[in-house]
Amino acid sequence: PGRWALPGKTALVTGGTRGIGRAVVEELAALGAVVHTCSRKAEELGERIKEWEARGFRVTGSVCDLSARDQRERLLREVADRFGGKLDILVNNVGTNIRKPTVEFSAEDYSFLMATNLESAYHLCQIAHPLLKSSGSGSIIFISSVAGVVGIFSGTIYAMTKGAINQLTKNLACEWAKDNIRANSVAPWYITTSLTEKLLENKGFEEQVVSRTPLGRVGEPGEISSLVAFLCMPGSTYITGQTISVDGGMTVNGLY
Ligand code: NDP
Repeated sequence: PGRWALPGKTALVTGGTRGIGRAVVEELAALGAVVHTCSRKAEELGERIKEWEARGFRVTGSVCDLSARDQRERLLREVADRFGGKLDILVNNVGTNIRKPTVEFSAEDYSFLMATNLESAYHLCQIAHPLLKSSGSGSIIFISSVAGVVGIFSGTIYAMTKGAINQLTKNLACEWAKDNIRANSVAPWYITTSLTEKLLENKGFEEQVVSRTPLGRVGEPGEISSLVAFLCMPGSTYITGQTISVDGGMTVNGLY
């Protein structure tokens, strides 16, 4: 049973109040992990934590905006305090998107997406490194996107941040293997969350997405969190540096 559980493992999951992050918090906590999460909205975070307590999950949270460097540093100090200077699992989930044709992006759009999607994950890895190393066996998981694997109409800046995350995964896997820290990236295609609900309400758009997807549907957050959990478990200790697409077959669909 130890191979398929996370008893007492400590985890930081960024952006855990909604969507994929929420599913990851719940999946890890249900497997026995002790989880810390964060989001920008105090009220929603408080509500989630109450729900999780009622379900017997051990989850705490901090209100912070991860696009700000000093707030990332404060978050990691809180995590170090809570978990006694050790961290087994870091899930870099926070990310967002602005969809525009390339020529319409402003300098502010660029800085905002780079800070939120890429710099935040990169810097959290840097400052979490001592804690992950102290755990004796650390696992970093990035929530990337198939937009960083193939070219899709999601906006170029978003795609660039996700492509960079997939490369960061490879470099950290090599550089930090000596510290027994693994790094892997999970790349979803369309998943029903607050980020995509408006888009998918447009049935023409959803049809276009589904028509490219061999399994013929979009995905659910629980279909991402299951892989994230596996990548933290003793059963995956030889997997590192990989970007795994969870996409209903979209990225292997040439023309079928
Ligand atoms: P949601 O927008 O539904 O949820 C995002 C979560 O992150 C919320 O809890 C949000 O809370 C939090 N968050 C957002 N920005 C910040 C910030 N600056 N600081 C702290 N917390 C923040 O997104 P999804 O669950 O859909 O996406 C999660 C990840 O999955 C992203 O990296 C996304 O790119 C990726 N992904 C999603 C896909 C999809 O189809 N849904 C497909 C491919 C990849 P709050 O707003 O209160 O801060």
